[in-house]
Amino acid sequence: MKFISTRGEAPVLNFEEAVLAGLASDGGLYVPETLPKFSADEIASWAGLSYQELAFKIISPFVDGEIADDDLQAIIDKAYSSFRHNAIAPMVQTGHNEWVLELFQGPTLAFKDFALQFLGHLLDFILTKRQQKVAVMGATSGDTGSAAIEGCRRCENIDIFILHPHNRVSEVQRRQMTTVLADNVFNIALAGNFDDCQNMVKASFRDQSFLPEGRQLVAVNSINWARIMAQIVYYFYSALALGGPARKVSYSVPTGNFGDIYAGYLASQMGLPIEQLIIATNQNDILHRCISDNDHSKRELSQSLAPSMDIMVSSNFERLLFDLYGRDGAEIQRLMSEFESGSMVLSDAALKSARALFSSHRLDDDGMLRVIASVYESTGYMLDPHTAIGVAAAREKRNNTDTPVVCLATAHPAKFPEAVMKAGDFGEPALPHHMKDLFVREERFVELENDQSLVQDFINKRL
Ligand SMILES: *Cc1c(COP(=O)(O)O)cnc(C)c1O
Repeated sequence: MKFISTRGEAPVLNFEEAVLAGLASDGGLYVPETLPKFSADEIASWAGLSYQELAFKIISPFVDGEIADDDLQAIIDKAYSSFRHNAIAPMVQTGHNEWVLELFQGPTLAFKDFALQFLGHLLDFILTKRQQKVAVMGATSGDTGSAAIEGCRRCENIDIFILHPHNRVSEVQRRQMTTVLADNVFNIALAGNFDDCQNMVKASFRDQSFLPEGRQLVAVNSINWARIMAQIVYYFYSALALGGPARKVSYSVPTGNFGDIYAGYLASQMGLPIEQLIIATNQNDILHRCISDNDHSKRELSQSLAPSMDIMVSSNFERLLFDLYGRDGAEIQRLMSEFESGSMVLSDAALKSARALFSSHRLDDDGMLRVIASVYESTGYMLDPHTAIGVAAAREKRNNTDTPVVCLATAHPAKFPEAVMKAGDFGEPALPHHMKDLFVREERFVELENDQSLVQDFINKRL
């Protein structure tokens, strides 16, 4: 399969090249030239498949023979063998025709494991074949870093460097990263904030001359196509469990970088009957303002109790815009440069076609805490703050209660104990068994000044 850039001017790549590429050279994001499409009969025939078998059906058309079928199935099987629950993505009912899809059964308790467990094994396979070694470099404000480290810790061909803002991530999040003591894992606590980390990573990707001969950087944030692709699977899996494709299903998705919900959009484009995709945001609500008022303008970032959605610019939104604008790269270039200077306005046609599938809702911290409390009181089920925003959005925005709504649970509540404790006197959510000793495990990280040559020198010396 061929992959093209949303801005129309970068080289066309094959699957493996797209996985290694990260951002396109024209500043755009890679997307498939055409999407695979499945008929209702074909989807219905997958009803009894395990998660891993279904993943193969969805993913193999994108890989398109570049990796042999047996090898691809083995990569998928390895990726999901680290999940605690046999169903991989189990569901819990929280109301009439309302379901929570638990995407936190992986090693780091957030949905990012779905993509990053898969990406780690996929990269290792591709790199072994090419006899190539790479360095993964990323910045994290919390969940991405630990999921990336867990995904790469056993990869022979990868050294991974994750920058986090020193003293500005939660203790659970920090320990999930720093207690992985593998020789190829390097945690850098940068004296600065998340933006400083992000800028350092961006600058390093732009000019990679600090790396030893023959090495390149690989991106593991959600601009990487393989991450998005892996996330399409659980939309199909949950819809099949609820009677799809004969019956439509709606989804409510807590959204930051627009990766997770964009995977739902792709599922619908590939033939899954989805009635609504509900964008759920916290007070950092640029996507909600865009869908509801055509106001896609940058505002000051505000810290919330759902920190994994504290994002101002949603990178993957560009991939949706590319489709909304008839896949016209020049139009996307124009729009994105308009947005660089503060804000962009969507055309009536683009907005109308977005609204045919998407709706949106915004909830601040107080509202979110009330939802955690009320769901706990009515069902005994504890939501994490991100998921709670999704549940609220589903209740507010669903068109009809005959269609099942699935709320994506993006994290386990024990990952965000502070918010859960604020919601009411329900006791502290317990870490799952395999992480019980997290707070007494040995940690390893280096503290570095916010200085580019210092950080790049540190990386160079370890490769
Ligand atoms: C990353 C993350 C999100 C946001 O996901 P996007 O794909 O960036 O929209 C939501 N909730 C949690 C817990 C996360 O870790």
